Amino acid sequence: MKTRREKIVELLSENEGKTLLELADLTNVPVKVVAQDLDSVRKTIRYDNKRIEVRPAVCMNCNYTFSGRSRISDPHKCPECHSERISPQIFRIISS
Ligand SMILES: [Zn+2]
Repeated sequence: MKTRREKIVELLSENEGKTLLELADLTNVPVKVVAQDLDSVRKTIRYDNKRIEVRPAVCMNCNYTFSGRSRISDPHKCPECHSERISPQIFRIISS
């Protein structure tokens, strides 16, 4: 029996990557819990010389890119145009 965090590592090792919402759906826990898991996974996979690569969230209205974000949760509002139509971050585990 795999732990939820092991399952998340497996899901994120697939090529296309996953959003927080997809991970939450696939592991049956709230997005908030998945975000906490990712924070922990991010630390533990370092020992395997791997890291989480994040494709940043982008505002669908003005194309503002949320790059260099340290928090795992998705942004809700664009700081440029205040739109709430934000495409979510996509997480993937890669070898570093
Ligand atoms: Zn915007």
